[in-house]
Amino acid sequence: MKLLSVIVPCYNEEENVPFFYEEFIKNENCLKEKGLTWEILYVDDGSKDETVKEVKKLHQKDDRVRLLSFSRNFGKEAAMYAGMQKSKGDYVVIMDVDLQDPPALLPEMLSYIEQGYDSVATRRVSRKGEPPIRSFFARRFYRLMKRISRTEIMDGARDYRLMTRQMVDAILAMPEYNRFTKGIFGWVGFQTKWLEFENVERLKGETKWSFWGLLWYSIDGITAFSTAPLSFAAVMGVLFCVLAFILIVFIVVRTLIFGDPVSGWPSLVCIMSLISGVQLFCLGIVGQYLAKTYMEVKRRPIYLIKEEL
Ligand code: UDP
Ligand code: MG
Repeated sequence: MKLLSVIVPCYNEEENVPFFYEEFIKNENCLKEKGLTWEILYVDDGSKDETVKEVKKLHQKDDRVRLLSFSRNFGKEAAMYAGMQKSKGDYVVIMDVDLQDPPALLPEMLSYIEQGYDSVATRRVSRKGEPPIRSFFARRFYRLMKRISRTEIMDGARDYRLMTRQMVDAILAMPEYNRFTKGIFGWVGFQTKWLEFENVERLKGETKWSFWGLLWYSIDGITAFSTAPLSFAAVMGVLFCVLAFILIVFIVVRTLIFGDPVSGWPSLVCIMSLISGVQLFCLGIVGQYLAKTYMEVKRRPIYLIKEEL
C-alpha cells in the first residue's frame, strides 16, 4: 500500500477544519481502489482561534489526522514547507482548508500520476467572486513574471498540487528563507500535468490576503525568481547619463551661439527632482534585493513547531 499525504495549511480556520475532513473522506473509496492509504496533515499556522482544538477533535476520532502547530503565524509558505518536511507519503498533495481546492479533483489527479507524471498541478481559469481590482493586478503580475523570469509560473496557478516523493524531496532541497512556492514548483521541473477548474468561492471565513499583503508577496516572487529589476536599474542609469550628455552638449552649443541669459531654474528643478526620484527608485530596487539577501544570510528557521500530533 502506498501512502498519500494531504497537507492542509490553516490559519484561523476553525469553521472549515471539520468540513474539509468530511469532504475529503468522500474520496476514500476511490483511494482504496487505487491501493492508497492516506494521512491528513493539518498545519496550524499560529491560529488565534480554535483551529487546533478542532484538529485535535478529529485526531481523537481518526488517527490518520495529524496536527502540526506553529509557535506563531509564519505564513502559508512556511506551512507548506513544514508540511512537506513532516509528510511521510509516497505522494503528497497540498490543499487549502477552505475547499477552494476541490478534493473531487483528486481521483483525476491520481490517475495522471499513475500514467507516469511526476506532478499534477491545477490552475483556475476564472476569477469569479474575486474583487476586479485584485484580478487585474494578479493578471499583470503573471504577465510581468513571464517576461522577466525564466522560471515558468502559470497564470492562475494554485498551490493545489499532487507530487511524487521524488519531487517533494527536490523542493525540500531548496531551503531558502524567502519562499515563493509557485516559482519553486516550476524551478524544480519534472513532468507536470495541468488541470483547469473554475474558481470556487471560499466555504467559510474570509481570505487572509489583503491587497497590500498580496502586493508584498508579488515583490517576494519577483525578487526570488528574477534579477531583471536590477538590470532595469542599471539601464535607467545609462539612459539618464546619455540624456544628460546630450543636454550638456546642447547647452554648451547654445551658450556659444546665443550667450548665457540667466533663466531656466524651474526646468532645472523639474529635471533634478525627476532624476533624484529615479535614483531613489533604483536604490529601492537594490535595497529590496539586499533585504532579501540579508534575511537569507541570517539562516533563521522557516518555522518553529509548538505541538505535533
Ligand atoms: N493560510 C496560512 N497562513 C497564512 C494565511 C493563510 O496557512 O498566514 C492558509 C489558509 O488557512 C488557507 C490557505 O492558506 O487554507 C489559503 O488562504 P486563503 O484562502 O486566505 O487565500 P486565497 O484562497 O484567498 O488566496
Ligand atoms: Mg482560499
